[in-house]
Amino acid sequence: MSLPLREIDDDVVRCVLCGAPAVGPCASCKAMVCGDCCVLTEGGVELHAICARCDRNKGRSLRTAWRSLVTASVLLIVALALFAALALAALR
Ligand SMILES: [Zn+2]
Ligand SMILES: [Zn+2]
Repeated sequence: MSLPLREIDDDVVRCVLCGAPAVGPCASCKAMVCGDCCVLTEGGVELHAICARCDRNKGRSLRTAWRSLVTASVLLIVALALFAALALAALR
């Protein structure tokens, strides 16, 4: 009587994103990721591997920062225009 063969590979570290065997930890969140799910970025002299999730989050936060900056400058211009209009109206 033979036991059915099961794949017991619990000692293999799995990629947290796709489940493939991981090659190393993410430099940002320390999650184990495979070669397909990490992006290599140059941080100073060292080459860092960042998981796709952190890479996406970083990109989004950067875009959000830019959008808020643009929104703030637009609001400032509108406020200045309103102030100028009011000042001209008061002078008249
Ligand atoms: Zn993966
Ligand atoms: Zn990460």
